Amino acid sequence: MNDSIREIAGDLKAYLEYLKEMGIDELPFIKEADKPTKRGQPLPAPQIQTLTEIRMELGECTRCKLHGTRKTIVFGEGNPNAKLMFIGEGPGFDEDVQGRPFVGKAGQLLTKIIEAINLRREDVYIANIIKCRPPQNRNPEPDEIKPCNPFLLKQIAAIRPKIICALGTFAAQSLLQTETKISALRGKFYDVGGIKIMPTYHPAFLLRNPERKRDVWEDMKKIAEELKTA
Ligand code: SF4
Repeated sequence: MNDSIREIAGDLKAYLEYLKEMGIDELPFIKEADKPTKRGQPLPAPQIQTLTEIRMELGECTRCKLHGTRKTIVFGEGNPNAKLMFIGEGPGFDEDVQGRPFVGKAGQLLTKIIEAINLRREDVYIANIIKCRPPQNRNPEPDEIKPCNPFLLKQIAAIRPKIICALGTFAAQSLLQTETKISALRGKFYDVGGIKIMPTYHPAFLLRNPERKRDVWEDMKKIAEELKTA
């Protein structure tokens, strides 16, 4: 993990810790108009942007070079009040065409994984670290992640999930600010700012390594158990 990625991952960790200090319900998106005036009027309750507002702010984003090669922005989709959120790396070919996360073969497998714990896709929220497809599905680069990251943070703040399932090496290492391999990270919850993060293998990895499905099933059982008390 290079310094830029570390810095970006640190932003997320620091932000989630901040949410915890804020009690999760009190989030820091104070609109310009809500800031204290010179007359010292009381500070109104902090405003949380809704997912619709965040999507409007993102607009037809040109904040990084991926805008030049993408077909569609993949913002994320699902239950705006989901207790469980899945975060992957970035859109692939099918997602870029359809503008929806995890709709290709790996996405179909993710749907089965979700249904295996008696949930539907509509019950959870699915997003990615980055919202536009990198050419040839290469790893996102720091100058692409950095402008995209604030929007993911705002989505997390709006949804307030109890659990985030980080899908694959890139998402897990970014969310947990670590270089540890996914094989060592997976299977355990990590408390970051009051949100429990469970890293597991990416469905695309499972398509190539079906013998690892059992590991993911074990991870999902832990998530299902944790959701009972969430
Ligand atoms: S990847 Fe994110 S920052 Fe870059 S153009 Fe797409 S939405 Fe904007």
